[in-house]
Amino acid sequence: MPEPELHEVAPGVYAYVQPDGSWMLNNTGLVTAPPGAAPDTGYVLVDTTSTESRNRALLRRVRDVAGDGPPRVLVNTHHHGDHTFGNWLMPPRTPIVGHVLCRADVERSGTLAARTFTGPDYGELRVRPPDTTFESRLTLHLGERRIDLLHTGPAHTRGDVIVWLPAERVAFAGDLAFSGGQPFLVDGSVAGYPAALAALCALAPAVLVPGHGPISRGDDVPRLLGDLLEYSTVVEHLARYGHKAGVPPLELARGATRELGRFATWRESERLVGNLHRAYFELDGNAPGSHLPMADVWADMVAYHGGPIPCHA
Ligand SMILES: [Zn+2]
Repeated sequence: MPEPELHEVAPGVYAYVQPDGSWMLNNTGLVTAPPGAAPDTGYVLVDTTSTESRNRALLRRVRDVAGDGPPRVLVNTHHHGDHTFGNWLMPPRTPIVGHVLCRADVERSGTLAARTFTGPDYGELRVRPPDTTFESRLTLHLGERRIDLLHTGPAHTRGDVIVWLPAERVAFAGDLAFSGGQPFLVDGSVAGYPAALAALCALAPAVLVPGHGPISRGDDVPRLLGDLLEYSTVVEHLARYGHKAGVPPLELARGATRELGRFATWRESERLVGNLHRAYFELDGNAPGSHLPMADVWADMVAYHGGPIPCHA
């Protein structure tokens, strides 16, 4: 894979983008103190990444820009391992902030992602959940810079948080937004996803940093969010039909190329099967965000893919 790229998306605000954005190759963020802030104001990190070597490379790049001081705060956008496996590399006194359900799900899932994607060399893995949690919203003040953390309700997971810089109009969307790949709703909610996308859209970001894939700017932002909404509508309609007709998710997905239309070319196509499982689970009466055991779902995703699902982290 090409080397990760650090993009300054607003003065002093950076997105760390890891090509090609496929499984476990996520994006992270760095927000430095604004001009005029006290020298020891520090900086805020948004998420970590998957393997120890990738996390150490990320932190070296951060130090090049932000200096050798410790991060003031690390924010986790959600619990998945590709966003939280580097938490343990934070200095012990650096608070790790996340939604209360993100903490619960880091504790529950532990190193599950590393046992699911066994290809990468993860190096040392230690589970460190967020130690500072909130329920609906929290604002961080980095000098004069304001960083709003906004919980959206279950969507990609049940503990999703948007990191929003209102003055700079930059949104770090976590995995509420994938760019180039299908969104993944197994741990969250198909029914809840449109509301999370609407919350993102209502912010009218000038820059949107997705959890995976290239950065969106300007008119591309509503276009990307509109595409994600349309995709989820297709999944919901397919699921309603298939659930009523008693067609298993794997069979439904295999026959859905025409219904998927242009979304059939989006990467990580096996996510469709997982998303249909989640939609069926909700149509069975389970609440959005309630725990759906992954073992059977994952087996169907592998079957749809036609073999082990690659991971290039
Ligand atoms: Zn995720």
